[in-house]
Amino acid sequence: MMKWILIFFLFIILTILTQIGGLILLLTILIGRILFQHRLSKYPAFKTTILFLVLYLVFTFLIVPPIAQLFGRSPLPVFKNSTLKPASFCSYLFNRHYVKNELSAALEVIGNEFHYQYPEYHVLYLDANFPFFDGFPLLPHLSHNDGKKVDMAFYYLVKDKPLVNDVPTLTGYGYFINPQKGEFNQTEKCISSGNWQYDFTGSLVFQDQNKYQLDEPKTKYLLELIAKNPKIGKVFLEPHLKNRLGFAEANKIRFQGCHSVRHDDHIHIQL
Ligand SMILES: [Zn+2]
Repeated sequence: MMKWILIFFLFIILTILTQIGGLILLLTILIGRILFQHRLSKYPAFKTTILFLVLYLVFTFLIVPPIAQLFGRSPLPVFKNSTLKPASFCSYLFNRHYVKNELSAALEVIGNEFHYQYPEYHVLYLDANFPFFDGFPLLPHLSHNDGKKVDMAFYYLVKDKPLVNDVPTLTGYGYFINPQKGEFNQTEKCISSGNWQYDFTGSLVFQDQNKYQLDEPKTKYLLELIAKNPKIGKVFLEPHLKNRLGFAEANKIRFQGCHSVRHDDHIHIQL
């Protein structure tokens, strides 16, 4: 009984994190029963774990991408020689890097334009969408459920030197570029109006505000390329950064609303 409760919770967690992980778990249990559960088999739990990892990787890298095409989605570049790269292994290992082909094409243009201006740098993406089904949310990003959304990383300085093709945290999220003196503080406003979740993405991250700063010229240039791309419909960014980087008049770049989370650690873009 306990075993099945554990399997149920694992199924839920793996499905929330990776979409396919829960199903791979069930497949593993099925195959494992045939292969390892007879009396003479040694270390069935260990072998079952290895079987899960092998199946998960085979599905993630070989089987899911072609099937996702049936849903009009493709994975963003991971190992390919591209101007677009994942900021963290979490996105591609957990199948969180799928987008509609139209968005993929727009990102390729943006990546190439950016790379032309800054040849040493890639455009780094964060979470996008899962490979299958419209309406299946990619938690904690409720709106990333249709293949039309993707988050992009900022560019940073670390102790005043450029941080090249890297981000301050494991996932790329949660390191906030706080409002400076005199800038509007949207976070205070949202939290004081009861939206406790507004800055929760920072709670797991060490906010060493002396270590990293925003690399303003590069982040501004990336935003310019995103905003001028005709395929991109909306961009979400925290108001103090929108103003600081000179986009006060840009209608495409907006505040996402207090029901969401802070957007001074990443840029959200959508078709
Ligand atoms: Zn987003």
